[in-house]
Amino acid sequence: MHILDIFEANPTTFSFEFFPPKTDKASNDLFETMEQFQELQPSFVSVTYGAGGSTRERTHDLIVRIQRETNLTAVSHLTCVCHSEAELAAILDRYAESNIENILALGGDPPRNLPNHDRANDAFQYADQLVRFIRSRSDRAGSRGFGVGVAGFPEGHPGTPNRLREMDNLKRKVDAGADYICTQLFFQNHDFYDFRERCDLAGIKVPILAGIMPITSRETLTRIAELALGARIPARLLRAVERCGDSNDSVAKVGVHWATEQCRDLLDNQARGLHFYTLNRSDATRQIYEYLGVKDSLALARRNGD
Ligand code: FAD
Repeated sequence: MHILDIFEANPTTFSFEFFPPKTDKASNDLFETMEQFQELQPSFVSVTYGAGGSTRERTHDLIVRIQRETNLTAVSHLTCVCHSEAELAAILDRYAESNIENILALGGDPPRNLPNHDRANDAFQYADQLVRFIRSRSDRAGSRGFGVGVAGFPEGHPGTPNRLREMDNLKRKVDAGADYICTQLFFQNHDFYDFRERCDLAGIKVPILAGIMPITSRETLTRIAELALGARIPARLLRAVERCGDSNDSVAKVGVHWATEQCRDLLDNQARGLHFYTLNRSDATRQIYEYLGVKDSLALARRNGD
Protein backbone atom coordinates (compact mmCIF):
# COMPACT_ATOMS: atom_id res chain seq x y z
CA MET A 1 0.00 0.00 0.00
CA HIS A 2 1.32 3.47 -0.85
CA ILE A 3 2.15 5.57 2.22
CA LEU A 4 -0.26 8.30 1.08
CA ASP A 5 -3.11 5.77 1.12
CA ILE A 6 -2.00 4.63 4.56
CA PHE A 7 -2.18 8.20 5.87
CA GLU A 8 -5.55 8.72 4.27
CA ALA A 9 -6.97 5.54 5.81
CA ASN A 10 -5.39 6.00 9.26
CA PRO A 11 -5.69 9.31 11.12
CA THR A 12 -3.15 7.82 13.53
CA THR A 13 -0.58 5.38 12.14
CA PHE A 14 1.20 2.66 14.14
CA SER A 15 4.39 1.31 12.64
CA PHE A 16 7.20 -1.04 13.64
CA GLU A 17 10.86 -0.94 12.71
CA PHE A 18 13.07 -4.01 12.23
CA PHE A 19 16.71 -4.50 11.35
CA PRO A 20 17.87 -7.23 8.94
CA PRO A 21 19.12 -10.24 10.94
CA LYS A 22 22.68 -11.33 10.19
CA THR A 23 22.00 -15.05 9.66
CA ASP A 24 19.37 -17.14 7.88
CA LYS A 25 18.36 -18.68 11.19
CA ALA A 26 17.85 -15.28 12.83
CA SER A 27 15.89 -14.23 9.77
CA ASN A 28 13.58 -17.25 10.11
CA ASP A 29 13.20 -16.51 13.84
CA LEU A 30 12.18 -12.96 12.99
CA PHE A 31 9.62 -14.32 10.59
CA GLU A 32 8.07 -16.39 13.36
CA THR A 33 7.91 -13.26 15.52
CA MET A 34 6.41 -11.45 12.55
CA GLU A 35 3.19 -13.39 13.09
CA GLN A 36 2.89 -11.80 16.53
CA PHE A 37 3.56 -8.38 15.02
CA GLN A 38 0.90 -9.03 12.39
CA GLU A 39 -1.69 -9.61 15.11
CA LEU A 40 -1.13 -6.00 16.17
CA GLN A 41 -2.15 -4.88 12.65
CA PRO A 42 0.43 -2.11 12.16
CA SER A 43 -0.16 0.49 9.46
CA PHE A 44 3.26 -0.43 8.05
CA VAL A 45 6.63 -1.89 9.05
CA SER A 46 10.07 -0.67 8.03
CA VAL A 47 13.49 -2.31 7.69
CA THR A 48 16.77 -0.51 8.36
CA TYR A 49 19.65 -0.35 5.88
CA GLY A 50 23.25 -1.00 6.94
CA ALA A 51 26.54 -0.01 5.42
CA GLY A 52 28.04 -3.34 4.34
CA GLY A 53 27.19 -5.15 1.09
CA SER A 54 25.83 -8.33 2.71
CA THR A 55 23.65 -6.53 5.25
CA ARG A 56 22.29 -4.35 2.43
CA GLU A 57 21.30 -7.48 0.52
CA ARG A 58 19.60 -8.78 3.65
CA THR A 59 17.50 -5.62 3.88
CA HIS A 60 16.34 -6.22 0.34
CA ASP A 61 15.58 -9.88 0.99
CA LEU A 62 13.67 -9.18 4.19
CA ILE A 63 11.61 -6.41 2.60
CA VAL A 64 10.70 -8.57 -0.39
CA ARG A 65 9.86 -11.53 1.87
CA ILE A 66 7.59 -9.39 4.07
CA GLN A 67 5.87 -8.13 0.95
CA ARG A 68 5.40 -11.63 -0.48
CA GLU A 69 4.58 -13.66 2.62
CA THR A 70 2.60 -11.33 4.87
CA ASN A 71 -0.20 -8.83 4.54
CA LEU A 72 2.03 -6.07 5.96
CA THR A 73 3.16 -3.00 4.03
CA ALA A 74 6.97 -2.86 4.02
CA VAL A 75 8.96 0.39 3.88
CA SER A 76 12.63 0.06 2.98
CA HIS A 77 15.26 2.38 4.43
CA LEU A 78 17.89 3.58 1.95
CA THR A 79 20.98 5.70 2.59
CA CYS A 80 23.24 7.98 0.55
CA VAL A 81 26.44 6.75 2.16
CA CYS A 82 28.70 4.41 0.12
CA HIS A 83 26.49 4.49 -2.98
CA SER A 84 26.89 5.61 -6.57
CA GLU A 85 23.93 6.89 -8.54
CA ALA A 86 23.87 3.72 -10.67
CA GLU A 87 23.69 1.51 -7.56
CA LEU A 88 20.83 3.53 -6.10
CA ALA A 89 19.00 3.39 -9.42
CA ALA A 90 19.39 -0.39 -9.55
CA ILE A 91 18.08 -0.78 -5.99
CA LEU A 92 15.03 1.35 -6.74
CA ASP A 93 14.34 -0.57 -9.95
CA ARG A 94 14.52 -3.87 -8.08
CA TYR A 95 12.06 -2.56 -5.49
CA ALA A 96 9.70 -1.31 -8.16
CA GLU A 97 9.76 -4.77 -9.80
CA SER A 98 8.84 -6.34 -6.43
CA ASN A 99 6.01 -3.84 -5.86
CA ILE A 100 7.79 -2.17 -2.93
CA GLU A 101 6.19 1.25 -2.98
CA ASN A 102 7.75 3.09 -0.04
CA ILE A 103 11.27 4.23 0.86
CA LEU A 104 12.67 6.04 3.92
CA ALA A 105 15.43 8.23 2.41
CA LEU A 106 18.38 8.83 4.75
CA GLY A 107 21.80 10.38 4.76
CA GLY A 108 23.28 7.46 6.68
CA ASP A 109 26.48 7.46 8.69
CA PRO A 110 29.90 6.32 7.41
CA PRO A 111 30.42 2.65 8.33
CA ARG A 112 32.44 2.03 11.49
CA ASN A 113 34.71 -0.43 9.68
CA LEU A 114 35.54 2.23 7.06
CA PRO A 115 36.49 5.20 9.25
CA ASN A 116 38.36 6.81 6.35
CA HIS A 117 35.51 6.54 3.88
CA ASP A 118 35.44 9.73 1.82
CA ARG A 119 31.85 10.96 1.54
CA ALA A 120 32.92 12.97 -1.50
CA ASN A 121 32.91 9.67 -3.42
CA ASP A 122 29.22 9.12 -2.71
CA ALA A 123 26.73 10.30 -5.30
CA PHE A 124 24.75 12.22 -2.67
CA GLN A 125 25.89 13.95 0.50
CA TYR A 126 22.50 14.69 2.03
CA ALA A 127 19.13 13.02 2.21
CA ASP A 128 17.33 15.80 0.29
CA GLN A 129 19.38 14.85 -2.79
CA LEU A 130 18.31 11.23 -2.39
CA VAL A 131 14.66 12.26 -2.04
CA ARG A 132 14.95 14.25 -5.28
CA PHE A 133 16.63 11.29 -7.00
CA ILE A 134 13.88 8.88 -5.87
CA ARG A 135 11.28 11.34 -7.13
CA SER A 136 13.10 11.59 -10.48
CA ARG A 137 12.61 7.84 -10.93
CA SER A 138 8.93 7.98 -10.10
CA ASP A 139 7.75 6.62 -13.42
CA ARG A 140 9.20 3.20 -12.54
CA ALA A 141 7.00 2.81 -9.45
CA GLY A 142 3.46 3.33 -10.63
CA SER A 143 1.60 6.55 -11.34
CA ARG A 144 2.41 8.22 -7.99
CA GLY A 145 5.96 6.97 -7.76
CA PHE A 146 7.48 5.82 -4.48
CA GLY A 147 6.13 7.03 -1.17
CA VAL A 148 9.07 8.77 0.51
CA GLY A 149 9.79 9.39 4.20
CA VAL A 150 12.69 11.24 5.84
CA ALA A 151 14.25 11.37 9.32
CA GLY A 152 13.70 14.13 11.88
CA PHE A 153 15.49 14.76 15.18
CA PRO A 154 13.37 16.26 17.99
CA GLU A 155 16.46 16.85 20.12
CA GLY A 156 18.59 17.93 17.17
CA HIS A 157 20.94 15.92 14.97
CA PRO A 158 24.34 15.63 16.66
CA GLY A 159 26.07 16.78 13.46
CA THR A 160 24.15 20.07 13.24
CA PRO A 161 25.50 22.78 15.50
CA ASN A 162 22.80 25.25 14.47
CA ARG A 163 19.16 24.38 15.28
CA LEU A 164 17.73 27.01 12.91
CA ARG A 165 19.83 25.63 10.06
CA GLU A 166 18.60 22.17 11.00
CA MET A 167 15.00 23.15 10.33
CA ASP A 168 16.09 24.63 6.99
CA ASN A 169 17.70 21.29 6.14
CA LEU A 170 14.59 19.38 7.17
CA LYS A 171 12.39 21.72 5.13
CA ARG A 172 14.71 21.11 2.16
CA LYS A 173 13.96 17.37 2.39
CA VAL A 174 10.22 17.99 2.52
CA ASP A 175 10.39 20.47 -0.37
CA ALA A 176 12.34 17.85 -2.35
CA GLY A 177 9.24 15.65 -2.12
CA ALA A 178 9.12 13.81 1.21
CA ASP A 179 5.64 12.62 2.19
CA TYR A 180 6.29 12.32 5.91
CA ILE A 181 8.87 12.60 8.70
CA CYS A 182 9.73 9.81 11.12
CA THR A 183 11.57 10.96 14.21
CA GLN A 184 14.53 9.67 16.09
CA LEU A 185 13.53 8.04 19.39
CA PHE A 186 13.02 10.36 22.33
CA PHE A 187 12.04 9.88 25.98
CA GLN A 188 10.48 13.22 26.83
CA ASN A 189 7.38 14.15 24.90
CA HIS A 190 7.93 17.87 25.29
CA ASP A 191 10.91 17.51 22.93
CA PHE A 192 8.57 16.05 20.30
CA TYR A 193 5.86 18.69 20.82
CA ASP A 194 8.42 21.47 20.53
CA PHE A 195 9.85 19.87 17.36
CA ARG A 196 6.34 19.59 15.90
CA GLU A 197 5.75 23.28 16.59
CA ARG A 198 9.08 24.28 15.06
CA CYS A 199 8.20 22.26 11.96
CA ASP A 200 4.89 24.10 11.79
CA LEU A 201 6.65 27.47 12.08
CA ALA A 202 9.05 26.42 9.30
CA GLY A 203 6.08 25.64 7.04
CA ILE A 204 6.51 21.86 7.23
CA LYS A 205 3.04 20.37 6.96
CA VAL A 206 3.63 16.66 6.30
CA PRO A 207 2.74 14.01 8.93
CA ILE A 208 5.33 13.61 11.70
CA LEU A 209 5.58 10.17 13.29
CA ALA A 210 6.92 9.91 16.84
CA GLY A 211 9.78 7.42 17.40
CA ILE A 212 9.30 5.26 20.50
CA MET A 213 11.78 2.78 21.89
CA PRO A 214 10.98 0.88 25.07
CA ILE A 215 14.09 0.07 27.08
CA THR A 216 14.09 -3.67 27.63
CA SER A 217 17.46 -4.22 29.30
CA ARG A 218 20.58 -2.42 30.40
CA GLU A 219 22.12 -3.46 27.07
CA THR A 220 19.33 -1.66 25.19
CA LEU A 221 20.11 1.46 27.16
CA THR A 222 23.77 1.24 26.17
CA ARG A 223 22.79 0.60 22.55
CA ILE A 224 20.52 3.63 22.50
CA ALA A 225 23.29 5.80 23.90
CA GLU A 226 25.62 4.53 21.14
CA LEU A 227 23.25 4.53 18.16
CA ALA A 228 20.79 7.33 18.83
CA LEU A 229 23.50 9.88 19.43
CA GLY A 230 22.04 13.04 20.88
CA ALA A 231 18.99 11.33 22.42
CA ARG A 232 18.78 12.44 26.05
CA ILE A 233 18.05 9.78 28.65
CA PRO A 234 16.30 11.65 31.47
CA ALA A 235 17.54 11.35 35.05
CA ARG A 236 14.10 10.14 36.22
CA LEU A 237 14.34 7.18 33.80
CA LEU A 238 17.98 6.47 34.72
CA ARG A 239 17.06 6.48 38.42
CA ALA A 240 14.20 4.03 37.79
CA VAL A 241 16.59 1.72 35.91
CA GLU A 242 19.17 2.03 38.71
CA ARG A 243 16.61 0.84 41.25
CA CYS A 244 16.23 -2.42 39.28
CA GLY A 245 19.72 -3.55 40.25
CA ASP A 246 20.77 -6.58 38.20
CA SER A 247 17.25 -7.60 37.22
CA ASN A 248 16.70 -7.12 33.48
CA ASP A 249 13.08 -8.24 33.99
CA SER A 250 12.54 -5.22 36.19
CA VAL A 251 14.35 -2.93 33.71
CA ALA A 252 12.01 -4.17 30.97
CA LYS A 253 8.99 -3.39 33.17
CA VAL A 254 10.31 0.12 33.80
CA GLY A 255 10.96 0.58 30.06
CA VAL A 256 7.53 -0.63 29.01
CA HIS A 257 5.83 1.49 31.66
CA TRP A 258 7.74 4.59 30.54
CA ALA A 259 6.98 3.99 26.86
CA THR A 260 3.30 3.29 27.61
CA GLU A 261 2.94 6.61 29.41
CA GLN A 262 4.69 8.33 26.48
CA CYS A 263 2.30 6.72 23.99
CA ARG A 264 -0.79 7.56 26.05
CA ASP A 265 0.26 11.21 26.21
CA LEU A 266 1.19 11.32 22.50
CA LEU A 267 -2.20 9.89 21.55
CA ASP A 268 -3.94 12.43 23.82
CA ASN A 269 -1.98 15.14 22.01
CA GLN A 270 -2.89 14.04 18.49
CA ALA A 271 0.44 12.56 17.41
CA ARG A 272 -0.04 11.66 13.73
CA GLY A 273 1.68 8.33 14.23
CA LEU A 274 3.69 6.20 16.64
CA HIS A 275 6.73 4.41 15.23
CA PHE A 276 8.12 1.64 17.46
CA TYR A 277 11.80 0.72 17.32
CA THR A 278 11.26 -2.97 18.09
CA LEU A 279 14.80 -4.41 17.92
CA ASN A 280 13.00 -7.34 16.23
CA ARG A 281 11.22 -8.37 19.47
CA SER A 282 7.51 -8.21 19.89
CA ASP A 283 7.11 -8.55 23.68
CA ALA A 284 7.54 -4.90 24.67
CA THR A 285 5.32 -3.54 21.89
CA ARG A 286 2.62 -6.12 22.69
CA GLN A 287 2.74 -5.20 26.36
CA ILE A 288 2.43 -1.49 25.56
CA TYR A 289 -0.69 -2.24 23.51
CA GLU A 290 -2.04 -4.31 26.38
CA TYR A 291 -1.43 -1.54 28.93
CA LEU A 292 -3.09 0.94 26.60
CA GLY A 293 -6.08 -1.39 26.79
CA VAL A 294 -6.15 -2.60 23.18
CA LYS A 295 -5.14 -5.61 21.13
CA ASP A 296 -4.28 -4.06 17.79
CA SER A 297 -3.57 -0.80 16.01
CA LEU A 298 -7.07 -0.48 14.59
CA ALA A 299 -8.59 -0.68 18.07
CA LEU A 300 -5.96 1.77 19.29
CA ALA A 301 -6.84 4.24 16.55
CA ARG A 302 -10.58 3.85 17.31
CA ARG A 303 -9.95 4.44 21.02
CA ASN A 304 -8.05 7.55 20.06
CA GLY A 305 -11.31 8.93 18.75
CA ASP A 306 -10.76 8.32 15.03
P1 FAD B 1 20.56 14.35 6.32
O1 FAD B 1 19.19 14.88 6.20
O2 FAD B 1 21.39 14.27 5.11
O3 FAD B 1 21.29 15.20 7.44
C1 FAD B 1 22.59 14.84 7.92
C2 FAD B 1 23.22 16.06 8.58
O4 FAD B 1 23.54 17.01 7.58
C3 FAD B 1 22.33 16.79 9.57
O5 FAD B 1 23.16 17.34 10.55
C4 FAD B 1 21.69 17.87 8.72
O6 FAD B 1 21.26 18.99 9.47
C5 FAD B 1 22.82 18.22 7.79
N1 FAD B 1 22.36 18.65 6.46
C6 FAD B 1 21.33 18.15 5.74
N2 FAD B 1 21.25 18.76 4.54
C7 FAD B 1 22.27 19.65 4.49
C8 FAD B 1 22.73 20.57 3.53
N3 FAD B 1 22.12 20.69 2.33
N4 FAD B 1 23.82 21.34 3.82
C9 FAD B 1 24.45 21.22 5.01
N5 FAD B 1 24.05 20.35 5.97
C10 FAD B 1 22.98 19.57 5.72
N6 FAD B 1 20.98 5.13 9.43
C11 FAD B 1 21.33 4.09 8.68
O7 FAD B 1 22.52 3.94 8.32
N7 FAD B 1 20.41 3.15 8.26
C12 FAD B 1 19.09 3.25 8.59
O8 FAD B 1 18.28 2.41 8.21
C13 FAD B 1 18.67 4.36 9.39
N8 FAD B 1 17.38 4.54 9.73
C14 FAD B 1 17.00 5.65 10.44
C15 FAD B 1 15.64 5.86 10.70
C16 FAD B 1 15.23 6.97 11.40
C17 FAD B 1 13.75 7.19 11.65
C18 FAD B 1 16.19 7.90 11.90
C19 FAD B 1 15.75 9.10 12.69
C20 FAD B 1 17.55 7.71 11.63
C21 FAD B 1 17.97 6.59 10.89
N9 FAD B 1 19.31 6.38 10.57
C22 FAD B 1 19.68 5.30 9.82
C23 FAD B 1 20.36 7.29 11.06
C24 FAD B 1 20.64 8.43 10.06
O9 FAD B 1 21.05 7.92 8.81
C25 FAD B 1 21.77 9.27 10.65
O10 FAD B 1 21.34 9.88 11.85
C26 FAD B 1 22.35 10.31 9.72
O11 FAD B 1 23.47 10.94 10.38
C27 FAD B 1 21.40 11.44 9.41
O12 FAD B 1 20.50 11.02 8.49
P2 FAD B 1 19.50 12.08 7.77
O13 FAD B 1 18.68 11.26 6.88
O14 FAD B 1 18.87 12.96 8.76
O15 FAD B 1 20.59 12.89 6.92
